[in-house]
Amino acid sequence: MTVPADEILVAGRWRRGGGAPLECVDPATGEPLAVVHAASARDVDDAAQAAAVPEWAALLPHERARVLMRVGDLIERDADELALLQTRNTGKALRETRALVASAAATFRFYAAALETMETALTPQRGPYLTMSVYEPIGVVGAITPWNSPIASDAQKIAPALAAGNGVLLKPAEATPLVSLALARLVLEAGVPAPLLSVLPGSGSVVGDALVRHPLVGKVAFTGGTSTGRAIGRIAAEKIMPVTMELGGKSPTIVCPDASAEQAVAGILYGIFSSTGQSCIAGSRIFLPAARYDEFRDLLVAGASRLRLGPGVAGDTQVAPLVTFAHRDRVAALVDRAREEGARVLCGGAVPSSAGAYYPPTLLEGLPNTSKTCQEEIFGPVGVLLPYVDEDDLVRQANDSVYGLACGIWTADYRRAWRIARRVEAGTVWINTYKQFSISTPFSGMKESGLGVDKGRDGILGYMRQKSVYWGLDEGPLPWAG
Ligand code: NAD
Repeated sequence: MTVPADEILVAGRWRRGGGAPLECVDPATGEPLAVVHAASARDVDDAAQAAAVPEWAALLPHERARVLMRVGDLIERDADELALLQTRNTGKALRETRALVASAAATFRFYAAALETMETALTPQRGPYLTMSVYEPIGVVGAITPWNSPIASDAQKIAPALAAGNGVLLKPAEATPLVSLALARLVLEAGVPAPLLSVLPGSGSVVGDALVRHPLVGKVAFTGGTSTGRAIGRIAAEKIMPVTMELGGKSPTIVCPDASAEQAVAGILYGIFSSTGQSCIAGSRIFLPAARYDEFRDLLVAGASRLRLGPGVAGDTQVAPLVTFAHRDRVAALVDRAREEGARVLCGGAVPSSAGAYYPPTLLEGLPNTSKTCQEEIFGPVGVLLPYVDEDDLVRQANDSVYGLACGIWTADYRRAWRIARRVEAGTVWINTYKQFSISTPFSGMKESGLGVDKGRDGILGYMRQKSVYWGLDEGPLPWAG
């Protein structure tokens, strides 16, 4: 694996960032991987000044699409290297990072196709004029991403933003900039004009803040925690700047009384413990029917206890290390708090002695849905089992959350699935499956889980400004003045 040089991409040039050094650590071993000097506020300004490239926006859609298609090919060419780099920097299992790299390539191709087939609307005529609705690039947009799936979340912002004709300032999370920098090299190799994309690693409070406040940045697409989203939203309100926000979650996974135990248990374990629970859509509140509670609890505990903990690079690892030792300690402290709240720990619940930032799959019970453990995001491999008595009780508890990101339903009854799916407040509902993603399907969060919609064909429009054009058809002057 090639560890990238200590250079960041600013305004089309690779150079050492003007900010403090960030040490990237392999969380499976605790060993240093690379040092990347963060961007400074000056770097952010240089990047923003250079990022509007009129020649890119002036290309015809199919010409921009050809370049984006090539980015997809290059990601595929370097897939093994990118997956390994992301595994070493984030700890994630290789089988997951391979899927994330494939998803990034597919995202660039999808937005190339969406761009090439995008249509301008001639709206219905209501007078002696033709009316058109057209879309134009915003200019320069900011993309701020978290550490849990860098290459996929970077691609989901960069691809539609470039497709729309914008320049992009990408700020990856401070602990995991390496794969974002590697992706930027491929974007340039594909032929995207150099100053159009900058990658600005660093802390949220310095680099992220400078990016959001920069007067030339006309939109911010943010993925991260709800409190950070709120802070960005306040600045955006001052600037009257559009933002899209993909934020946190505390998603209910619901087992109905008629569910297949085999299917539901496998799906629930995947929904909460894959990515070591570091997933916004982790199904962390597990609702079980009171009548089958003991049966499902025992199956889930047996299944969770069998999951294989190990380094991300090992082919059979199911539960890899957490992203940093600090995050592992935070998860451990939240499980201790759950104990203080009265939780019974059914499995896991203690830091293992191994060298990496590991935390085992942990299941809790005995807490009400109103407890802090059930209301606040843990972002680790920790699920809480909650009994319910009937459908109304279930929906009331599932919706009793500030979040509304995702929901899973396990049932053999399609009428029940439909009823619950429509009553639960969640941007995505999975029925008899979980944590499946398609770039062609919109993604959004309800309540404090988000603002705006990502993905889907219309994802490009989120990076454009709408304009209406009226074409007069009368030969003579307007009657009032004439
Ligand atoms: P975070 O909010 O701490 O950081 C996310 C990004 O925002 C990082 O790049 C960070 O440096 C930056 N940032 C922090 N403060 C900032 C500020 N004041 N101004 C500008 N930028 C700032 O989140 P995290 O800990 O990196 O990621 C975990 C969170 O992300 C969880 O809450 C998770 O649910 C959420 N998430 C949501 C989705 C989704 O699609 N809804 C996907 C992945 C992660």
